[in-house]
Amino acid sequence: MLAKHRLMVPGPTPLPPAVVAAAVQPLEDERTPQYSRVFLRVVDRLRQVLRTRNDVLVTTSSMTGAFEGALVNLLSPGDHVLVATNGAFGERWVAMARAHGYRVTEVPAPWGRPVDMAEVARVVDRCPDLALAVCVHCETSTTVVNDLEAFAAACGDVLTLVDSASGVGACDVRTDDWGLDVVVAGGQKALMTPPGVAFTSISRRAWDRHRRATSPRFYFDWDAAADAMAADVPRTPWTPAISLLSQLDRALGGLLEEEGLDEALARHRLLGRMTRAAVRASGLGLVTDRDVDAAATAAVLPPSVDRDTVVAAMAADHGVQVVGAPGAWGARIVRLGHCGWIDPLDVVTTVAALELALADAGMDVELGAGVAAALRVRADSSHPVLEGVR
Ligand SMILES: *Cc1c(COP(=O)(O)O)cnc(C)c1O
Repeated sequence: MLAKHRLMVPGPTPLPPAVVAAAVQPLEDERTPQYSRVFLRVVDRLRQVLRTRNDVLVTTSSMTGAFEGALVNLLSPGDHVLVATNGAFGERWVAMARAHGYRVTEVPAPWGRPVDMAEVARVVDRCPDLALAVCVHCETSTTVVNDLEAFAAACGDVLTLVDSASGVGACDVRTDDWGLDVVVAGGQKALMTPPGVAFTSISRRAWDRHRRATSPRFYFDWDAAADAMAADVPRTPWTPAISLLSQLDRALGGLLEEEGLDEALARHRLLGRMTRAAVRASGLGLVTDRDVDAAATAAVLPPSVDRDTVVAAMAADHGVQVVGAPGAWGARIVRLGHCGWIDPLDVVTTVAALELALADAGMDVELGAGVAAALRVRADSSHPVLEGVR
């Protein structure tokens, strides 16, 4: 039977046809004024999405490249870094900072729980030599969202760095209102662009620190990027992923000018509510049922059902690609992505595929119970149908 391929993981995410089409334009030289205008528009649009007036630098790499770049641009060898962790991505930051020889103090929360910002504040008080504090916004491995406003407040005068990879575009990021010094993210989650572009917003305080930071750097050197931005024809210091930037430009135009950022955030909130209601009604557990915006929902399967069988059946039998969660912690967890170019009926389809796969795996599931719960949330929402990027 024909099955459509529906990508419902929290990154990479489906591309609107207009964003696909933006990739297949004839290539331009990035040093021309015409292309520079596209580049500058991307930077301006990223500022709007991050709600900041800070500088935004764009790099060609997956997001981890820009993460590593942020560390070496802000720190000197031996510097002391606080990393708040509550999942796999927080632990990536710990490993990255240790690989560079920085001293790391971890503030761990159990996986599936938010970071305890009171504990962050206590560690900040206890460690007067901290050079930087790092927190993941939406900890995609568990789907838990951390409170960035509380994080910035807990850090006081310590410079803050946030990984908002799956946050930006799906969850509100108020960079300037909350006083976040450095925010790093990229295109392949809620921003509806293929992987390969990352970006970094940098406060004045972070620039001041950067000038004194002595860790070696070259490809990701912020000075190189700032110099290229200040050139007669503003550009990136090295050849950018030209086609990807055109795609990101198209996607951001759709997000900001066709749908609207506030409307997109409201849509993501609705998708989360629909998914959580459906998971509950299907008889599954939830890692977190906090009513906050999130890029994905983590459903907990009963011990009688094999997680990998369900994930494989959803893809093979119904064309819906979802994903498990990492490690032993995630052995019974299925993550249903709902960020980016996703609408309410995509959630309904995903829940229907989940119910069918659960029934096939032997679970006593009432087919349609989750679908009905999702539909009721949709029907009760006053969410209008809006024009977004197509
Ligand atoms: C998706 C994601 C990343 C992605 O990193 P890549 O280097 O682009 O693979 C990083 N952090 C978080 C929290 C994510 O959700």
